[in-house]
Amino acid sequence: MVGRAIVRRLASEPVTLVTPKDRIDFRRQAETEAWMAAQKPHVVFLAAARVGGILANDNAPAQFLYDNLMIEANLIEAARRTGVEKLVFVGSSCIYPKDAAQPITEDALLSGPLEPTNQWYAVAKIAGIKLAQAYRREYGCDFISAQPTNLYGPFDNFDLTASHVIPALMRKAHEAAQSGEPLVVWGSGRPFREFMHVDDLADALVFLAQTWSGEDIVNVGSGEEVSIADLAGMIARIAGLSGAPVFDASKPDGTPRKLVDVSRLKAMGWNRARALAPGLQDTYEWFLNHRQSVRGYADAPSTRQKQDDQQL
Ligand code: GDP
Repeated sequence: MVGRAIVRRLASEPVTLVTPKDRIDFRRQAETEAWMAAQKPHVVFLAAARVGGILANDNAPAQFLYDNLMIEANLIEAARRTGVEKLVFVGSSCIYPKDAAQPITEDALLSGPLEPTNQWYAVAKIAGIKLAQAYRREYGCDFISAQPTNLYGPFDNFDLTASHVIPALMRKAHEAAQSGEPLVVWGSGRPFREFMHVDDLADALVFLAQTWSGEDIVNVGSGEEVSIADLAGMIARIAGLSGAPVFDASKPDGTPRKLVDVSRLKAMGWNRARALAPGLQDTYEWFLNHRQSVRGYADAPSTRQKQDDQQL
């Protein structure tokens, strides 16, 4: 999802794009280094990752930790070896402590315990940030890191066992509208989350690649926070559902609130977050128009793991 958004954003720039069209497994060092040596990119956006929602993280801790550590370590080292001039590492707002003061400033990193449901992913992303900083210190590489808030948009994963809340609720609302069953929302509905359209993230990443050089990490967010209950209401309305959502208390809430402070990015001159309501409407329409091919929706469960591996 993020990679495709960066490609869309770069289409209007005077650059030659290099994307891993054939299957490259960035978890494998030799494969990664051979590919990078052949392509010799000047700039790298490191968005490749194993990502997933609250249950996927909890259910596959080894994959979330190992895959992400390997992908980022291999790509960062390969970037150094091939003399990449700029690398933008895409981190996550999950890196911050569960009880960080809100909105979360960048200096909250490593100031307290992590949210247990996504600690594996968070530890891997923190390692990626530290790698970028260490390569800058030791080798003088111009590697920077951005920490996006929760994302949504085209090419998201709509597999209910792996997805984040927005694609999950869009799919469930669509199916509820057809079946007449209620929309089932995980947890209490009380947690708050900040959401950002992936095209805004891509724009911010390109902006940072062009303007920022330093060890300091940079939060990327929309500043717009919503409760999961209100988000469910918005998506239910978009899908044309009339009944009230029901809440499944057997599922986890995760961190109570996760709003990043975007003062640093704003002070650098970037400020272009699109509003949630139209972004949700567009994404729902995209989902309806691409139902036959979207990730996690069209494919049978038995092929999901294979497809997932291919996307890495
Ligand atoms: P998180 O931000 O890492 O917790 O990731 P998620 O996007 O998976 O979950 C955000 C919040 O939405 C959590 O409080 C979930 O319990 C809640 N949620 C409600 N319904 C769903 C659902 O169907 N799928 C997912 N993934 N989360 C849901």
